[in-house]
Amino acid sequence: MKADQFQAPDYYNLDDLLSDEHKMVRDASREWVKREVSPIIEDAAQKAEFPKQLINGLAEIGAFGPYIPEEYGGAGLDQISYGLIMQEIERGDSGVRSTASVQSSLVMYPIFKYGTEEQKQKYLPKLASGEMIGCFGLTEPDHGSNPGGMTTHFKNEGEHYLLNGAKMWISNAPFADIAVVWAKNEEGRIHGLIVERGMEGFTTPETHNKWSLRASATGELVFNNVKVPKENLMPGKSGLGAPLGCLDSARYGIAWGAIGAAMDCYDTALRYAKEREQFGKPIASFQLQQKKLAEMITEITKAQLLAWRLGVLRNEGRATSAQISMAKRNNVNMAINIAREARQILGGMGITGEYSIMRHMMNLESVITYEGTHDIHLLITGNDITGIPAFQ
Ligand SMILES: Cc1cc2nc3c(=O)[nH]c(=O)nc-3n(C[C@H](O)[C@H](O)[C@H](O)COP(=O)(O)OP(=O)(O)OC[C@H]3O[C@@H](n4cnc5c(N)ncnc54)[C@H](O)[C@@H]3O)c2cc1C
Repeated sequence: MKADQFQAPDYYNLDDLLSDEHKMVRDASREWVKREVSPIIEDAAQKAEFPKQLINGLAEIGAFGPYIPEEYGGAGLDQISYGLIMQEIERGDSGVRSTASVQSSLVMYPIFKYGTEEQKQKYLPKLASGEMIGCFGLTEPDHGSNPGGMTTHFKNEGEHYLLNGAKMWISNAPFADIAVVWAKNEEGRIHGLIVERGMEGFTTPETHNKWSLRASATGELVFNNVKVPKENLMPGKSGLGAPLGCLDSARYGIAWGAIGAAMDCYDTALRYAKEREQFGKPIASFQLQQKKLAEMITEITKAQLLAWRLGVLRNEGRATSAQISMAKRNNVNMAINIAREARQILGGMGITGEYSIMRHMMNLESVITYEGTHDIHLLITGNDITGIPAFQ
């Protein structure tokens, strides 16, 4: 892969809206991605391996629990810093950002919000330092967009809960130490349980042959009469709203992350277009290529404004789930469109691993599907503005 020459576009001087701390956090993440991620990520993706050597660095830049309080090992940052870290990591690769998102928003967040003090003390510091990696089991083979239909269930056996069922498409599953699992009790109420690797009857087979998020490990969670200690149930919240609360936090991070992938594609295409000559001129001098580049920077700028405003609303505790849906949907769609256009600007070179664009493009096919599909987020907006749910 070519040396990382990334220069972040900031067409509307959005840096003026950031505090010194935001810029410091963002720049540290950016430098780390240039130094540690860019040189190795293409190889990891080609080999379909999660680069485990990045775990310590992710912890050091505060990517594991950016907004979790420092007393539990988190970085104690605000929502904009969290978003900027996700943006920079996804500038490197969506798969690496997925690991950070899952760890922070889908494992640490529920333990912090719904867990007992003992659970927080036991798990959060180790998750923040990367000593422990977690995964989040909501999706099932027959229940993706409709997780409320889940069939994974547990029953009270006096001394423990007995857990049965299966989860599918679970990021980090093949190597995770713990899984936050959503399952129904005997009354059909959804609860979160912390399942640890090594519990009898718990296996995590890996999902192979993905063309997308190849540098992220994906797998199943299979529960065959797993005896889960009673103290591993998170008592703070039950019902579908509990996992959805985690998804709000992760989707917000994705809205920023997608900007990173888009910026990398745009920056690569702009540089290439100015250097590559055809018909005796740089291809950047042709109107058709300028149209692509001009539209890209316009869309990136709009997405940056959306993410920044959403971050302010989240810092004030005012962001709604529907607002988060709009930003996730818009920004991921923006990024995937930019990746496709940028790929074309590079001509044949665009399909090789010499450049990051094709990897981003394929990664974004997962990002536009997970954490609520493009369609589902549109239905959430539709429901929000009309008051009429159109899911069924
Ligand atoms: C790489 C990867 C990693 C993932 N990681 C995780 C993870 O860590 N944890 C986890 O729990 N899940 C994870 N997921 C699962 C992901 O969240 C689901 O794939 C997603 O929610 C969609 O579910 P599905 O694949 O079953 O598709 P379906 O729900 O079967 O949807 C198929 C199509 O039908 C459309 N559709 C569905 N319902 C409606 C409707 N009511 N109206 C209109 N259209 C509809 C969808 O938009 C989609 O286009 C991951 C997925 C991938 C690909």
